[in-house]
Amino acid sequence: MSAQTQTDQEFAGAHGVPVEAVQLLRRAELIDLHIDTFIPPRLMGYNLHKRHGLGLLRGRFFGHLDLPRVEEGGLTGAMWSITTNPFRTRAGRWRTFTKNLKRFRNFIDSTDGRLRIVGDAAEYAAARQAGAHAVLPSVQGGNAFEGAPDGWLSIADNPIVRVTLVHLTNSAYGITSSPFKGWKGKRGLTDAGRDFVKELNHHRVFVDLAHVNPRTFWDAVEVHDKTQPLLATHTGVNGVKKHWRNLDDDQLKAIADTGGVIGIIFSQAFLKVRGGPRDSGMVVDHMEHVIDVVGEDHVAVGSDYDGAIVPPPDLRSGTNYVRLVAAMLARGWSAERVEKVLGGNALRVLAELRPGKVQSASAGAA
Ligand SMILES: [Zn+2]
Repeated sequence: MSAQTQTDQEFAGAHGVPVEAVQLLRRAELIDLHIDTFIPPRLMGYNLHKRHGLGLLRGRFFGHLDLPRVEEGGLTGAMWSITTNPFRTRAGRWRTFTKNLKRFRNFIDSTDGRLRIVGDAAEYAAARQAGAHAVLPSVQGGNAFEGAPDGWLSIADNPIVRVTLVHLTNSAYGITSSPFKGWKGKRGLTDAGRDFVKELNHHRVFVDLAHVNPRTFWDAVEVHDKTQPLLATHTGVNGVKKHWRNLDDDQLKAIADTGGVIGIIFSQAFLKVRGGPRDSGMVVDHMEHVIDVVGEDHVAVGSDYDGAIVPPPDLRSGTNYVRLVAAMLARGWSAERVEKVLGGNALRVLAELRPGKVQSASAGAA
């Protein structure tokens, strides 16, 4: 709030968008289903308290977000990822994860309430009422938990709300979609992977099918509790661009069948097609394909900011979400549809899986 010194008009002018896009953004909840903004401070000592420019890389790979730009950009909540380095040993991954979780919590504490960790919809609402950005702690690479002595319960008050089963390499749980030599495989979810999905279901933690190969995807759909919404938090779609990292229409339908949501990534590598848009329109193209196949209740934003991606040129900074809003409006989307995609759909699944104290009594959740 305090960071907002620009008027809507000035912000619109600075981003070259109509003021309506700014007004819509400012009244909407904007929840990004996947940001890796915890990586740069860990690896490069990047100071998230400071406002950064695009830097030497001009917005490629890292440096997309920081605390001031989270607020300025209108990002009201996000799944902040703690990413596992798959090349560590099993025990090393677990040790490093617990260390990183502690650092993560310390960082949030250092923001004096501007960022707040939330675990459910009631906490999300309370954070927003206090003017805080809601941090939904997430893990990329469930193999962080392989070495956990007591599984999910190894962490007291485990704050993690979402886990991907694998990352860029295979894990003890399943097979990655990455096409690198030696990692590709026809195999799917392992027995340990099946147990892990059941454990996540038991604790009502979102199972995220980003990064898995098709066989692992379908095995996970099969074993996953049908009453809980599935996610694919950061992906493109094969219906627009065929790519090893993207999802087929059947996969979109399987996620939508659970009431779940597909987050569209901002990576040009997975989105851009010859003759297609060169800017944020490419994100909207992939979103529109999801809408064509399964409807507007099942698509969301999943930028992968700070996750070594190269976003379209007009989305290189985390203050640029407003340009995505403008691109949606330029397609003739209703304000209602825009608000669903920005945050409404993400909030719906959060309320469904993890309503929290306020609502759970009335919902009679078992
Ligand atoms: Zn990823």
